[in-house]
Amino acid sequence: MIYDRILVRFGDLTLKGKNQKEFIKALHKLVASKMEGLNVEIDYQHDRIYIHLLDENQEEVIKRLNYVSGISSYSFVCKCDKDINVIKETALKLMKEVVNDTIKAFKVNTRRTDKNYALRSMEITKAVSGYVLANHKLLKVDVHNPDIELNIELRNDACYLYNTNIRAMGGYPVGTLGKGLLMLSGGIDSPVAGYLAMKQGVEIECIHFESTPLTSIESAQKVVDLVKKMAKYAPNNKINVHFIPFKEIHMALLDNVPESYNITIMRRMMYRIATKLALKRNCLCIINGESVGQVASQTLRSMNTINSVTNYPILRPLCTYDKLDIINISKKIDCYDLSIKPFEDCCTVYVPKAPATAPKIDKAEAYEKAFDYEAMIEKAVDNVNSICISVDSDLDLPLMGLEVSEVIEMIRSKK
Ligand code: ATP
Ligand code: MG
Repeated sequence: MIYDRILVRFGDLTLKGKNQKEFIKALHKLVASKMEGLNVEIDYQHDRIYIHLLDENQEEVIKRLNYVSGISSYSFVCKCDKDINVIKETALKLMKEVVNDTIKAFKVNTRRTDKNYALRSMEITKAVSGYVLANHKLLKVDVHNPDIELNIELRNDACYLYNTNIRAMGGYPVGTLGKGLLMLSGGIDSPVAGYLAMKQGVEIECIHFESTPLTSIESAQKVVDLVKKMAKYAPNNKINVHFIPFKEIHMALLDNVPESYNITIMRRMMYRIATKLALKRNCLCIINGESVGQVASQTLRSMNTINSVTNYPILRPLCTYDKLDIINISKKIDCYDLSIKPFEDCCTVYVPKAPATAPKIDKAEAYEKAFDYEAMIEKAVDNVNSICISVDSDLDLPLMGLEVSEVIEMIRSKK
C-alpha cells in the first residue's frame, strides 16, 4: 500500500477567531488520547494533523478517528520529496495502485502553499498529468467528469498526494464549548442527545433519576452500559454519572398528585434537581432527549409548564427530530440494542392512563403544595451517588433487589 499516512482536517474551526488556538490545542489532545496504545507517529500542525501509520492497522486508526469531534474529513496520503521528478514517479505509482477497470479518466489538482517553489500550481498539474498519461496507457484526462482525482499538495515541509476525502464526525472538539448535564434515561433518545451535544463541543456529565428497588437494578445497569458507549466520544474516554435517588419523590407523587399530572410534576422535580446539580458541577446547561410531540410531556404546552421551574439553559438537540432519524443515530453510535432492552425506569412504571397534554402552571403549583418537595429535593441532591465510567469499566450492577446506593457502596469498598 503506497499510502502510509492519514491527513486529518479540522474544518471550520478556522472560523473561530480568538478561540482558534484553544480549539486546535483541544483537538490535538483529543487525537493523542484516542490514538493511545497504537503504533503511529503523529505530526501536529497548526491547520492539520498527519498520522504516520508505521505498521499499525489502518482500520483501527480510522475507527478511533471517527470518535473525535472537530475533525471534518480525512484522506489517506503519501508523502514524498518536493523534487518534481520524485512527485511524478510517486503520482504514477499511486495511480497504478488505485486504478481499476472502472476508472478511465483522471484529473490532477494542485495546491501550493509553499510559495517559493519553482513551479506554479498549473505547471505542476501539467507536468504530473502528462507523465501519468504517458506511462499509464489506460488513462485519459477529463477535467470536467473524472472517475478519479489526484490531489497534490505542495507544503513547506514536503509534498503530499491523495485521492480520497472522507467525511469525519464534524462539529467542534468536545469540551471546547464547556460542560453540560445530560438527563440520561435508559431510552433511545437521551444517549443520542448526549452524542449530538458532544459532537457540538459540549463535554457531558450525566444525571439519572433512579427509583430502585421500585425499578430494577438492571435499568441502572443499562445506564452504565450506555455511558460506556458514549464515553468513546468523551475526552479521555470517561464520563461522570450521577445517580439521584428518586424513589421517595416518586412515591410522594403517586400518593399526592392526581394521576393526570403525575408525569408533569415528576418532570418538574427532575428539572429542579438537574438545575441544582448542574450549578454544583459547573455545567453551563442541561441537555435532554425531548422531542416535540413525542409523548404527552413533550407537547409545547407541557414543555412550558415543565420548563417554568428553571431558567437554566436547556439544550434539546432532538427537539425537531423524527424518531426514525433518532434511531439511525442510535444505531450508528451502537446504543440502540442496549436502549431497547425492556427494563423499566422511573418514567415507565405507573404510567398514567390519561396524562395531561395541556397541563397548567397554576394547577401544577397547587398540586405540588400537597407535599414538602423542597426538602425531598435537597435530600436527593445530597444523597447523589456519583461514579466515573470509562469505556472499559467493568462495572456490574446485576444485584437483584439492591438499591443503586448499596451497589455503588459495595464497589467503593472493594477498591
Ligand atoms: P428517551 O427519551 O431517552 O428515549 P424515554 O423515552 O424513556 O427515554 P422520555 O419520557 O421521552 O424518556 O423523557 C424525555 C427525556 O427526559 C429523556 O430523553 C431524558 O433526557 C429525560 N429523562 C427521562 N427519564 C429520565 C431518568 N430516569 N433519568 C434521567 N433523565 C430522564
Ligand atoms: Mg423519549
